[in-house]
Amino acid sequence: MEIINRRQRMTSVARKVRREQDKTIGLVPTMGALHEGHLSLVREARRMCDVVVVSIFVNPTQFAPGEDFERYPRDLTKDTTILADYNVDYIFAPTPEEIYPKGFATYVNVEGLADQLEGAARPGHFRGVATVLTVLFHIIRPDFAYFGQKDAQQTLIVKRLVRDLAFDTEIVVLPTVREDSGLALSSRNAYLNGEDRRAATILYRALARAEAAYLSGERSARKLAEGVRAEIEREPRARLEYVSVTDADTLERLDKLDDRAVLIAVAARIGQTRLIDNIVLNKQKGTGALKMP
Ligand code: AMP
Repeated sequence: MEIINRRQRMTSVARKVRREQDKTIGLVPTMGALHEGHLSLVREARRMCDVVVVSIFVNPTQFAPGEDFERYPRDLTKDTTILADYNVDYIFAPTPEEIYPKGFATYVNVEGLADQLEGAARPGHFRGVATVLTVLFHIIRPDFAYFGQKDAQQTLIVKRLVRDLAFDTEIVVLPTVREDSGLALSSRNAYLNGEDRRAATILYRALARAEAAYLSGERSARKLAEGVRAEIEREPRARLEYVSVTDADTLERLDKLDDRAVLIAVAARIGQTRLIDNIVLNKQKGTGALKMP
């Protein structure tokens, strides 16, 4: 396993792998502070691809002003030790200057999809995500790139980015990994104290109740959203930011649920920590294919 910090070195290694060795490359983009959610992506990349690259980069452009960029957990030594056990070929851990050289002025914006939910709550967030992924995809040119369903809106934006700008990379989306309590694993869970950690399980419990209501025949988006809201509001440490019920492929707001796949997404603060989670109902109908709104 080699740790690469330089953009130029990463470009030339990836080119060699592709051209001279004719091998497939899988990329797992992360911000580090690795947990079992990230590792599920690494495992699948290892299974599918000849060469696995994990990028570790806390991307400044995807943090809105006042967010946790400075205090986001960083531990490259620990992450490296973990990845050594997973037979990863390369860790790409650039400095911000390597990704954003002096005078950097080109940004990528996925219109529409990026304006709602997380995009509305975190101005500029998806512009930063789409831009850094564009740079990473150009440096590495992966055959496959791996993302978690935990960040549902991000997966839709990445798929649209790749299609619209004709990247030769296939996006693979894998299920959300959860603790036994239902809490979705997240690097930001490190901010939670014991009480907050217990309180945070309300997010999944609320989503699971909505799923149960759906399975018992509830088809009103408003009623499902209200149920999630009421459940989360019962937890005094939680402050709900939004709950949305949308088409899982287009993020189009729904009124009555039909046979389409449906995304129920929530964002809430538990104490000072902002967490997101989601579930997809009627998943087999959600192809992940790019249906235009
Ligand atoms: P991050 O380091 O938070 O930027 O996440 C890197 C990748 O890991 C993203 O594609 C996330 O969606 C994915 N990821 C984060 N948490 C989980 C989880 N609990 N289960 C599955 N994938 C996850």
